[in-house]
Amino acid sequence: MRLSRYFLPLLKETPAEAQIVSHRLMLRAGLVRQEAAGIYAWLPLGLRVLKKIERIVREEMNRAGAVEILMPTLQPSELWKETGRYDAYGPEMLRLKDRHERELLYGPTNEDMVTEIFRAYVRSYKSLPLNLYHIQWKFRDEVRPRFGVMRGREFLMKDAYSFDLDTAGARRSYNRMYVAYLRTFSRMGLVTIPMRAETGPIGGDLSHEFIVLADTGESQVYCHKDLLEMPVPPADVDFDGDLEPIVRQRTNLYAATSDVHDAARFEAEVPADKRMSARGIEVGQIFYFGTKYSKPMKAVVAGPDGKKVPVESGSYGVGVSRLVGAIIEASHDEAGIVWPEPVAPFDIGLVNLKTGDAKTDAACEGLYAKLQAAGKDVLYDDTAERPGAKFAGMDLIGLPWQVVVGPRGLEKGLVEVKNRKTGAKEELSAEAVVNRFAR
Ligand code: ATP
Ligand code: MG
Repeated sequence: MRLSRYFLPLLKETPAEAQIVSHRLMLRAGLVRQEAAGIYAWLPLGLRVLKKIERIVREEMNRAGAVEILMPTLQPSELWKETGRYDAYGPEMLRLKDRHERELLYGPTNEDMVTEIFRAYVRSYKSLPLNLYHIQWKFRDEVRPRFGVMRGREFLMKDAYSFDLDTAGARRSYNRMYVAYLRTFSRMGLVTIPMRAETGPIGGDLSHEFIVLADTGESQVYCHKDLLEMPVPPADVDFDGDLEPIVRQRTNLYAATSDVHDAARFEAEVPADKRMSARGIEVGQIFYFGTKYSKPMKAVVAGPDGKKVPVESGSYGVGVSRLVGAIIEASHDEAGIVWPEPVAPFDIGLVNLKTGDAKTDAACEGLYAKLQAAGKDVLYDDTAERPGAKFAGMDLIGLPWQVVVGPRGLEKGLVEVKNRKTGAKEELSAEAVVNRFAR
């Protein structure tokens, strides 16, 4: 992409309304624009990041055996009346009426609808286990939308729903999502800790929130420090096999959100030098809720004995749009964002230090073409801005690599490659630069 033809509205001033660094940087780097409280337009750079996150989430869901669908944002109220949630949900739900006075709502979540889809088609245990997911916008009329996309009102969520014949099956489905989440967040360059969480009226120990540690996080969490060092399950982990050991390796160590924290147990189970209490951002939550929706909605399946039982379910959410902010909270410096490579909007920023200078232009054009041919996403700053502004802009938007081309270096046949994260600079020939990124 040529910057001269792109749409990258950077802000010089720090927006006054932004209280935390990720929100400030998202506005300054031109990732999003607020259109109403908690409602954002995604600008080109932000949209690229959102799509990269979405893709990682999708790949890991598919790997774990979940099947993608797409449910609508608008839902009829009837489904929610069947489960009793229409009245229970309260003012967070955005309710509306169509021209025929039919009650609709903008979905805050999809248990009711997916259970309706399930009961319409599935009759037998032979179709199980089944896990259906979608990546769709949600609306929750939060009392205090804040921190930019981290607590929005309209936000993008991946929500998956598992269906099993019995609790043992449901547990296996839960474990699949648990392991998929460990992989998902780690692929985005995040260290997340699964923390025991409030399960609501169902009880049991089957809910975990996946937390990214950050001082600005809204959750207070307590855990064993070793959880920060746990190895992430590899890509070839067998999702049809027994995942219980992977899950138990972690759940054996104390980790809880403040809602379920037990100080006495924490002190008894965790040696003093291993205790950690910190703030964190919830980027995902997984949940076993059994027959909470299948019972009232009569979503039943016949078991091997022919007996019909309400299907056992769980739901599994990832805050896709919140992750954009959470990743920035976890990865930035004084100069701006430092994108982990897998979610960066472009791989390389190519900086022309003297646009209009024939030799510099030619060298840049050559690099631009060859780096793209090597499969890299390149943002080519071909504008007439002065070098200082170009450097500041590149640092602000945080692309992992900068390739800087100017007449002085070219005289020696060299261009500069800078790593955004470490700041390390290297002078290489244009050819060596291409080879470096082509591998
Ligand atoms: P929170 O406790 O932060 O309000 P929640 O527990 O109500 O979130 P879930 O129903 O578990 O949220 O939704 C799944 C995921 O969606 C959350 O883990 C979070 O990452 C994301 N999410 C929830 N609410 C918002 C919001 N208002 N803005 C952005 N992302 C959100
Ligand atoms: Mg939650």
